[in-house]
Order: sequence, then C-alpha cells, then structure tokens
Amino acid sequence: MSALVLLPGSSGPSGNGQQTTLGVMGGGQLGRMFVQAAQAMGYFTAVLDPDAISPAGLVSHYHIQTDYLDQQGLAQLMQRCAAITTEFENVPAPALVTLGAARPTAPGADAVAIAQDRIKEKAHLARSGVPVAPYAVIESAEQLTAVPGDLLPGIVKTARLGYDGKGQVRVASRAELAAAWDALKNVPCVLEKMLPLAAECSVIVARGANGDCVNFSVQLNLHRAGILAVTQVYEENLPPALMQQAVAATKNIAEELHYVGVLCVEFFVLTEGTPEHAALGALVVNEMAPRPHNSGHYTLDACDVSQFELQVRTLAGLPLVQPRQHSAAVMLNLLGDLWDSKNNGGQSQINSAEKNPGQKESDSDPNYLPPWAQVLALPGVHLHLYGKLKASKGRKMGHLTVTAATAAQAHATALEAARLLGIEAF
Ligand code: ADP
Ligand code: MG
Repeated sequence: MSALVLLPGSSGPSGNGQQTTLGVMGGGQLGRMFVQAAQAMGYFTAVLDPDAISPAGLVSHYHIQTDYLDQQGLAQLMQRCAAITTEFENVPAPALVTLGAARPTAPGADAVAIAQDRIKEKAHLARSGVPVAPYAVIESAEQLTAVPGDLLPGIVKTARLGYDGKGQVRVASRAELAAAWDALKNVPCVLEKMLPLAAECSVIVARGANGDCVNFSVQLNLHRAGILAVTQVYEENLPPALMQQAVAATKNIAEELHYVGVLCVEFFVLTEGTPEHAALGALVVNEMAPRPHNSGHYTLDACDVSQFELQVRTLAGLPLVQPRQHSAAVMLNLLGDLWDSKNNGGQSQINSAEKNPGQKESDSDPNYLPPWAQVLALPGVHLHLYGKLKASKGRKMGHLTVTAATAAQAHATALEAARLLGIEAF
C-alpha cells in the first residue's frame, strides 16, 4: 500500500466536492462498526455485500449489492472509494487482488489469503516466537493413515471457511478421525492435538503502511460451543510475562506479513502441570483474523480509540496512537438464543397474565425481546445491536459491554446483566 493519506473532511477523487469515501467488503456487524467509525470522522462509506439487508449496508452511504467476485460490483466499489478494507475473512482473495491493483486496499490480498487457509496460517504463526498446537495436515488418504497417534484425542478442522467452531470435529480414535474426515467431505483439513486449556486470550494490533504498530491490552475470552461468549479485560487478567509474550508474538506476526490494518491473534493458555505445558510452554498461538475481532468490541466503550477507528486510521494513512483503556470491561455476546422467551424463564413483552389463556407455555413468542430496560438500568452498560431482523440460535445479534472503575465492579454488573438475559454465569 502506498503512503497515501486521506485526510478526514477531504474531497474524494471524483472531483465533485463529495467527501472522501472509504469502502468495505462485507456487510456484517464488523463492517457496520467500521462504517460508523469512518462516518464519525467525516468520511463517506460504501459497502459491498450481496444481501439486500445487511448490518453495514443499512447504515452506509452506499450499498453495492453484488456478489464479492462480481466484476461490475468491484468496479463500482473502486470507482466510488479512495481506499478499501474488508470485514470478513472469507471475502475471496482474488477480489482483493482486483481491488488492490486499483486502490489502496488494507489488509492486502496476500495476508488475507494466508489467514483464510489454516495450513498456510499455521506455517506463519509458527514463526511468531510462540508455538502452535501440534498438528498434521490431512489432504489425502495416505496422510490420514500416517497421522501420528500422539495427536489423538484431537480436533479436525477444515483448512478453509471455518468460523465459530463450524467445520470442526473432535475425535478420540483413528476410526473417529476417518469418519470425521469423510463427514467433512474429505476437504483439506488439519488435525490438531487437543490441548488442556486453562484460558483463552487474544491480542489486537493495528499496523500502518509506515510500519508503526500499536496494540490493545490482552483480552481474556470464554468460548461456549465454539462461539465467543464473554471477553474480560482487566490489568490483572493473566500473568504480566505471558501478556507481554502474547503482544510481542502478535506484533511479530503483523511485521512478518508486512500487514496493514487491524489484526487479531488468538492464543491458548495451557494448564500448568500437564505434559503439554511442559512440552510447549504456557502460551500456544491458535489462529489469526485479518480484521477487527469480536473480542475487541469492548474497545468502543472502554478505550479512548476503538479497534474500528484504528481500522479507519490504518486505511486512511492517519497517525496511529497507542490506545488507552480507561475502564475495566466485560463484553457479553448477545446471541439469537436470547430472543427465545424459553431461554429466560418465559419473560415476555406481554405480561403472562395478559396472554391468551389458550396459549401453550411452550410456544415461542415472536414478540419477545430480551429485558433491555432492566439491563440498561445497570450502571456502565452499553448496548450494541447490529440491526439483524431475524434472531436464530447462535447468530450474533449484538453485544453488551459493561464498563466500570474496577474489575470487580465490571464483573459483578456483567453477572447481573447475564442473569437478567439468561446467559450462563462465568
Ligand atoms: P474458529 O475459527 O471456529 O474460531 P478455533 O480454531 O479458534 O476455530 O476453535 C474454536 C474453539 O475451539 C477455540 O476457541 C477453543 O475453545 C477450541 N479449540 C480449538 N482448538 C483446540 C485445541 N487444539 N485444543 C483445545 N481446544 C481447542
Ligand atoms: Mg477462533
């Protein structure tokens, strides 16, 4: 990417006096929060997403509704935008190659292509100074039989297109491994040894075209059923040496890739006293996301610069400053499950006394909303909903950040919010 600077409030290349437009591939919630950050700084925005109604498309100045590889769509995006980013790691890398040839595009197609493929990704992550989980590549029947037995029990993960625990199968024996690879339609996979996890954490950095790199604090993440459920960010999250190691490794990865943009790296913290801890050390690098990350949503409310503003700054060539976290924070993901009244002991917008007496308790109630008024009455609660019209199980509908002066306060309030919403305690 050239050292182009697109100053806020400048007019775009069209010469019609219109504000500079920043583009994003993908219309999900990450795109929405990028668009909101860009607009706050005075940029116009354009979103390319095939869906007529998407979280980012709904709030952007322009929505180009085509497939990611549609040449006309890409041409429109290039014509409109002075620079383009991505919010969705499965945007086909060839689309980013096309865009990158005509406009500053960050992150670049090379970095995204690596993050899209677990096999390529692992080779890169292994150079970060922190080990990856022991693994084997499975692309053929021969490789399947040759898998070392000490990788079992393990997890088979498809090399491409997995997210939120999708495309993964836990296996305990060779027979289960073979069955799982068949169930995954024999696509290229990796088998990873199952590690004893004491915790999971992530680090988000933003790197500019000039090589400047800034980072957020280490985020402590709790996953449930393969989906991020809770992120907690306190100073005393993890031992300081471990946090320093995670930040240094993330910066190394960004550096190695000549990365421009926001990058998140996920880590495992291994349980002390286990053979895996003895062999690998306390910290293992899991995977990276070439974009802002769900574990960084708390930065909108708890830091003086958010991950989305840093995405705007890296794209526009603006100065990067080290973010400062001003509040302890807990982020709760709001999954579609919470929109089911049965999840929360049958609370409903309609008070149960007013319900049709013939209505069965077990019927799900289309008018049900989570108890926002009660949750918003708690101090330091920030609600973010992504404008998705239909709730379904496991779908990320929004998130809630609790900020407070102390970790104990943030934790206590977040537990109360979780209780009201029917989210399991943590
Ligand atoms: P995704 O792309 O779906 O986020 P991950 O590889 O991060 O896939 O796996 C999802 C979750 O599954 C992790 O956050 C972790 O909780 C668990 N997991 C993945 N790999 C391992 C492993 N090797 N050992 C133990 N748990 C794992
Ligand atoms: Mg993950």
